[in-house]
Amino acid sequence: MAVNTEQYSKIKTELDTKNVLLVAVSKTKPIEDIKELYDLGQRDFGENYVQELCEKYEQLPKDIRWHFIGHLQTNKVKLIAPFVYLIHGTDSVKLLQEINKQGAKLNRTIKCLLQVHIAQEETKFGFDDEELANVPIDQWTNVQINGLMGMASFTDDMEKVRSEFKHLKILFDSFAERIPSHVPRPTSLSIGMSADYKIAVEEGSTMVRIGSLLFGSRN
Ligand SMILES: *Cc1c(COP(=O)(O)O)cnc(C)c1O
Repeated sequence: MAVNTEQYSKIKTELDTKNVLLVAVSKTKPIEDIKELYDLGQRDFGENYVQELCEKYEQLPKDIRWHFIGHLQTNKVKLIAPFVYLIHGTDSVKLLQEINKQGAKLNRTIKCLLQVHIAQEETKFGFDDEELANVPIDQWTNVQINGLMGMASFTDDMEKVRSEFKHLKILFDSFAERIPSHVPRPTSLSIGMSADYKIAVEEGSTMVRIGSLLFGSRN
């Protein structure tokens, strides 16, 4: 399946006017497809699997900003810590500790988003509302918590999706309030995928993660 460059330009323009960052989700897609969007100016790409991300990082231009959007196991943090631009799916304090440790070893501050569990589905990773309120946010020397990430329920009911995004925006605003003044204010709310990015943008997304609309469906 070919890259849909026309669709890419349309979405990119639409998002630029709204100041929303487009993360092109390239998981399972070949290097050539990524290069095609890279040549059109795209620099932010998202991947879900550590090994695949490391292989692509090796083979592609070094000015790409790699977003890790999958579920990250603590024992794999060290593999992406040297180069990852933003870890979207930080879903436990244990994981934050490990990212902080690896960041310290590399003398680098690693940007993270806390993943919030908004969907009712049991399989989704992330903090629930109460856990989120208790995540330590100012004790990290080498982690910068930049905001929140979430996924809506897998459903055709777009009003349900919208209400979940609304809820996440409220959580994001109260999370930002909690950040002490000596810590940089969180600016990123990563919500919205191919099927629901327009709704996410209407509800306050600052960063959408779009795969299949750009690269075609995955097997
Ligand atoms: C795969 C994936 C996406 C992109 O999904 P599409 O529906 O193809 O746009 C976005 N976010 C996460 C966390 C993903 O795993």
